[in-house]
Amino acid sequence: KVVCVTGASGFIASWIVKFLLQRGYTIRATVRDPSNPKKVDHLLKLDGAKERLQLFKADLLEQGSFDSIIQGCHGVFHTASPVRHVVDYPQAELIDPAVKGTLNVLKSCTKSPSVKRVVFTSSVAAVALNTRPKSPEVIVDETWFSDPDFCRESQLWYPLSKTLAEASAWEFVNENKIDMVVINPTMVAGPLLQPEVNESVQLILNLINGIPFPNNAFGWVNVKDVADAHIRAYEIATASGRYCLSERGVHYSELVTILHDLYPTLQISDKCENEEPYLTTYQISKEKAESLGIEFTPLKVSLKETVESFREKKIVDF
Ligand code: NDP
Repeated sequence: KVVCVTGASGFIASWIVKFLLQRGYTIRATVRDPSNPKKVDHLLKLDGAKERLQLFKADLLEQGSFDSIIQGCHGVFHTASPVRHVVDYPQAELIDPAVKGTLNVLKSCTKSPSVKRVVFTSSVAAVALNTRPKSPEVIVDETWFSDPDFCRESQLWYPLSKTLAEASAWEFVNENKIDMVVINPTMVAGPLLQPEVNESVQLILNLINGIPFPNNAFGWVNVKDVADAHIRAYEIATASGRYCLSERGVHYSELVTILHDLYPTLQISDKCENEEPYLTTYQISKEKAESLGIEFTPLKVSLKETVESFREKKIVDF
């Protein structure tokens, strides 16, 4: 049971590696800089890592750099992709690594007949961002696709990178007869294994640091449920297509309310960045995810775990 995890040092991938080790897999994990302790020490300390975790250097933009790593693997979890919401050069910083990187990894899969399934980490950003009307009654499901033109016009560069990457991946796997299952999480919260704060969890840190919140609403899901979904999507033979993952959609103001409730003495900002009426959210179907056996962790628990993890890692001092 040998599998490859790309971008292994990331927030979600670290949990995938931890759970795969627990389940007895041997893992070939790719990182960009295996000599950077901040990227690898937390992985090397995991139970089973000494015996069954090997680290390899690979970059999404280096053609063929995954070839020898994927050779002989039975499964590939492709999670690596830049996650940044503010960039100067969207094409170079986000779109190229996401799209060319995904094709680079998938091309390596075609060269290794041992690969039976690829699980690809996409996003709800590749599902819900289009001109279709949204309201709290609307249920977005796996049949929805984000519209690249809408993303471009709205300068939603990270969602554009995920939308184009997923579309290119489907085109490539259909042409090359690769078995791929796609995971589409909403914003991911929960405990960090890695020492650095990733983008989605940074949004929660901003709130507890008293920074005014954006007038926006997102779905949220626990990182352990996301990792679990990846492994179920790999192991359950009948899994197919896409799986949206969202425990619940909330406006930022509701995150603030929950955090206040959990930590009443904390000075959490209750100011929105602008005075406009709060944007409403929409629902995301849980049906397919639940068919994999996923039981979603309640948002309140995910927020508590996130903040407790900040405390443990001394990212906050209360
Ligand atoms: P992280 O930022 O923690 O991890 C991203 C990973 O991608 C890192 O390991 C990073 O490597 C790697 N990466 C970025 N650029 C390159 C490159 N050019 N070559 C090789 N590796 C690269 O983010 P998350 O764990 O949050 O995200 C993981 C995946 O999940 C991404 O595909 C993301 O789009 C998706 N996702 C995340 C959500 C979230 O809310 N967090 C929601 C929905 C989807 P390095 O460590 O070297 O920087």
